Amino acid sequence: MALRKLVAGNWKMNGSLGALVELDAILDAANANAGLDVAICPPFTLIAAAAARVPGLPIGAQDVHMAAKGAHTGCVSAAMLVEAGARLAIVGHSERRADNHETDAEVQAKATAAIAAGLTAIVCVGETEAERDAGRALAVVAGQLDGSVPRDGKGETLVVAYEPVWAIGTGRTPSVADVAEMHASIREKLGALLGAEGAKVRILYGGSVKPDNAAELMAVADVDGALVGGASLTAAQFVPIIEGAA
Ligand code: PEP
Repeated sequence: MALRKLVAGNWKMNGSLGALVELDAILDAANANAGLDVAICPPFTLIAAAAARVPGLPIGAQDVHMAAKGAHTGCVSAAMLVEAGARLAIVGHSERRADNHETDAEVQAKATAAIAAGLTAIVCVGETEAERDAGRALAVVAGQLDGSVPRDGKGETLVVAYEPVWAIGTGRTPSVADVAEMHASIREKLGALLGAEGAKVRILYGGSVKPDNAAELMAVADVDGALVGGASLTAAQFVPIIEGAA
């Protein structure tokens, strides 16, 4: 089943109010390629201004807390994100799993909280280079899905992003065959976890997606879009990726 593709940008800890000018051309490209979805996930501080500037472009967060409110200094709840204008939330990005020691159970709780608040949760999974070299990539990702995917996840509000850790920000990508093998394995696992809903969950590829490799990667079976880091920071780089995915 061909799913409507999603191309989402993750600005990480980059951007400023001035950088939101990039969103104008990104929205234009999204409108010109209406057969797919486009979203941008800026830092928390830019969500409200981004959503106000381009109401037609879904804006997302890069993390969310699992609790509704309370004594969690520095954290942001799903309801707060919704109020700021967010429509999506990335959870379990490998940088947060590494830097903040986030576990699968925490990622699952964050995804559950996001979905309950009406956000689309993008759950990130991916193996390290050592795990791939040891022939464990498929097993590692299947284990992350086991622990991180909310069991009541629905195809419309749950997205999985496969992001091999060694491909993020490195300019390296897996072979098309390896991407196909991993995405088929993720699709099968989602079916085992979610039944018929698993077939509706979009599986994004992320890790050094650029204008010159986007079309090839997006044409792989069960690749339902992209999560793009560095190349989402400027319309000059991101728009050709949108066009490559369309
Ligand atoms: C990411 O961090 O989600 C990512 C895919 O980064 P990049 O595109 O820069 O590799």
